[in-house]
Amino acid sequence: MRMVDLIEKKRDGGTFSRGEIRYIINGYVGGKIPDYQMSAWAMTVFYSGMANEEIAELTMAMAESGEQLQLSSSDKLFVDKHSTGGVGDKTTLIVVPIVASCGVPVAKMSGRGLGNTGGTIDKLEAIPGFNVELSVNEFISQVNRIGMSVISQTGNMVPADKKLYALRDVTATVNSIPLIASSIMSKKIAAGAKGIVLDVKYGSGAFMPDENKAEELARTMVGIGKNLGRNTVALISDMSQPLGRAVGNSLEILEVIDTLQGNGPKDLLEVCIELASWMLIVGGKANNIEEAEKLVNDSLANGKAWRKFLEFVSAQNGDIKIIEGKKLKLAPIEELIRSKENGFISKIDAGKIGKLAMVMGAGRETKESIIDFGAGVYILKKPGEKVTIGEPVLKLYSSDTQEIANGCNLAGEAFVIGQKSFDFRKMVSKIIS
Ligand code: URA
Repeated sequence: MRMVDLIEKKRDGGTFSRGEIRYIINGYVGGKIPDYQMSAWAMTVFYSGMANEEIAELTMAMAESGEQLQLSSSDKLFVDKHSTGGVGDKTTLIVVPIVASCGVPVAKMSGRGLGNTGGTIDKLEAIPGFNVELSVNEFISQVNRIGMSVISQTGNMVPADKKLYALRDVTATVNSIPLIASSIMSKKIAAGAKGIVLDVKYGSGAFMPDENKAEELARTMVGIGKNLGRNTVALISDMSQPLGRAVGNSLEILEVIDTLQGNGPKDLLEVCIELASWMLIVGGKANNIEEAEKLVNDSLANGKAWRKFLEFVSAQNGDIKIIEGKKLKLAPIEELIRSKENGFISKIDAGKIGKLAMVMGAGRETKESIIDFGAGVYILKKPGEKVTIGEPVLKLYSSDTQEIANGCNLAGEAFVIGQKSFDFRKMVSKIIS
C-alpha cells in the first residue's frame, strides 16, 4: 500500500476499506506517514467526505491507537456524555451526580478549555484541593465505589486524535464532519463507555453556528455509535445565548451548587434534565422519557443528586466546607454594566459573552495562559426579561483594572434591548437516537 495512492483514491471519490484506514492511522501514529501526506489526505476527506462505515472504521482505528479503558469488568453499564461545548456549559457537573445518584455509573474524562472559558476540568480545579489527576485504577475504583468520577484525560489515550487534531488545526481541515465525528467518538470509545449521550450545540457560542450542520454532525456520531454497538443518543441544543447566568469557573461552580439544590436557571435546568434523562434511558434505568424525567426530578428534589455531588467532591479531595458554604472566591474587582434603554432583553450573544469572560481572565488564550478562576461574567438579565434605564444587565469580575476597562468597552455589544417581551424558548430542539 502507498499513501499517495490512498490520497488519490479519496480525491477521486473512492471509499476506503478497513485495511486502508488502519494503514493510514497506524502509519501516521507510527511516524511512517509524514505530515504533508496526512494533510493532503485530510483535505481530500474534507472535500470528498466519507461513508458511514468508513467513519466508523476511522473512529475505531483512532480509539485503538493508544490505551483503552476496560470499564466493563463490573456488571454495570457505564454511560458517558459529551458536549460539543459552549459558553456557560456546566452541565457535566450537574448531570453526572444526578445520573450516578439514580444508579447509572459515569466514568468521565474531560478536558481543559482553550478559548473563551475553562473546560470541565478547569471548573473543578476552581474548587480548592480538588484532584483531577487520579490514576486509572483510582478512577475506576472510585466509580465502582460511589458511581462517578471526573478526571483529566490521561496522556496516552487516542494519540491518533492528538496528532491529527493538531495537524487539522493548522491545515484548515478542522471543520469536516467525518473528521470531527470520528475525533469525538474515538475518545468516548477509548474511555470505555457502552452508552453515549451527546449534546450537540449550535449558535454563536458553539463550535457549529448552524443548526442544520449541528444536526448533520449529531446524525453522523449517532451513526458511528450504531455501527460500533454503542447505544448513542444526541440532543441538539441552542447555544446562541450562554447556558445559565454564570460564565467563569468559580461562578459556574456556584451555579452548579444552586442547580443541584433546586434553584437553577430554567434554561440550564432544561438541558440538564434532558441529558440526565437520556443517560438513564441509555443506561437501562428507565424505559421512556417520562419515567426517566421523573427519576431525575426526584433526585433533584429529594437532595440525592446534591449529596452525590458532595460525595464526589470529597472523594477527589475537594474542600467540602467551601462548597457547602458557597465560599468560592470571586475576583476582587466588580463592575456592573447597566442598560441605556427601557425595554426587554432580546438577545444575549453567547459568542460575545464568551469573549468578554476571556478578557476578564476566565479563559486561556494559549495553552500556557493561566486562568483566573474567580474571573467571569454574571448575567443579571436573561432574554425576555424587562429592563429599565440604569438597571444592571451584566456583572463583570476580574482581578485587573485594565481587564475591567477593556470589558466595559466590549460589554455593551453583548446584549440587545428590544421592545417586545417573549416567553422562555426551549433549549433542546431535537433528539436523535
Ligand atoms: N472536538 C473534538 O474533540 N474534535 C474535533 O475534531 C472537533 C471538536
